[in-house]
Amino acid sequence: MLKTMALRPCPTCRTPTSWEGNPFKPFCSERCQTRDLGAWASESYRVPEKPQEEDGEGWTGEGEGG
Ligand SMILES: [Zn+2]
Repeated sequence: MLKTMALRPCPTCRTPTSWEGNPFKPFCSERCQTRDLGAWASESYRVPEKPQEEDGEGWTGEGEGG
């Protein structure tokens, strides 16, 4: 069965990317997704000055690297 796969340009690197089963859509990869999020997170989105409360559910900041 043939199905037309729509390729959309990645907003980060403009690479034709398939949205079918792509967990990083509209980005082509996790790399581009992180880059884009990091861009607005550091420039547009400003975290207000609030005291860090350690009242979470054992949040671990691991995952970086690769
Ligand atoms: Zn990309």
